[in-house]
Amino acid sequence: MNLFSLASGAGAPEGAPAICSRKACRAGADWQLLWNNPRIHTPERRKVWLSCTEHRGWLEDYLQTRGLWKETLPFTAGTAIGEQQGGNS
Ligand SMILES: [Zn+2]
Repeated sequence: MNLFSLASGAGAPEGAPAICSRKACRAGADWQLLWNNPRIHTPERRKVWLSCTEHRGWLEDYLQTRGLWKETLPFTAGTAIGEQQGGNS
């Protein structure tokens, strides 16, 4: 099932710019959408999609429709949580 392939960039390589997860959008990320798929993830696990302000609503709706959305938090460099690649700080 390739339902989530549109956001396969989540967890980008270290040093990659934090950009919107929406396909074909290259805007900088302003939001991080936390989600969990209970069919494949443990309940405490959080996947993260980054989103620009324009696509925040679209991505939230996408996740909410499927019952996966958990919460949306402001994104600023260094505040990513969940499974975005980070350092060892
Ligand atoms: Zn976008």
